[in-house]
Amino acid sequence: MKSAFNKKYFTDLKKLKWAHNLKGLKKMPPIVLSRHDETDYIHSYGENSPFFAGLAHNEILGTRCRKCKTKFATPRLSCLQCGTDCNWFLLPKTGRIHSWTKCYFGGESFLKETPYFLILVEFKGVNSLLLSRLKGVKDEKHVEINMEVEAHFSKKPKYEITDLWFEKK
Ligand SMILES: [Zn+2]
Repeated sequence: MKSAFNKKYFTDLKKLKWAHNLKGLKKMPPIVLSRHDETDYIHSYGENSPFFAGLAHNEILGTRCRKCKTKFATPRLSCLQCGTDCNWFLLPKTGRIHSWTKCYFGGESFLKETPYFLILVEFKGVNSLLLSRLKGVKDEKHVEINMEVEAHFSKKPKYEITDLWFEKK
């Protein structure tokens, strides 16, 4: 993969000067190299697995505390308010933008899409927000707080958070 970083940050090794008398080595600028690295990630979703299975079935799952009834759009199997177990429930497929940001850099799976929009989605009657992407807007002039958005799901789910995004309703 081509490096996403600007080459100006890397040392030009052809221009690197060596001090044959060992003087001035303390003033040598740091040697900065770029090399490609690849890793296979082994990642368990643990008790959050139903959330990702839900996305593959065009559903967004949240959790609800059995005791204090707090509803979480980002699933928590233990309530952040009282520590009690939570149960799964279906979130609505429409919500409103609580806040948003435009990202000019991202992880490898997002690099091709930069710049892209991240939004915190607010669902009616739900006590926490869901972080997701906003697609289908040209620029920030078309993004507004409180704008109604609807969920879209990948037709070829990878069981990753990128299986879900939102678009203007
Ligand atoms: Zn609770």
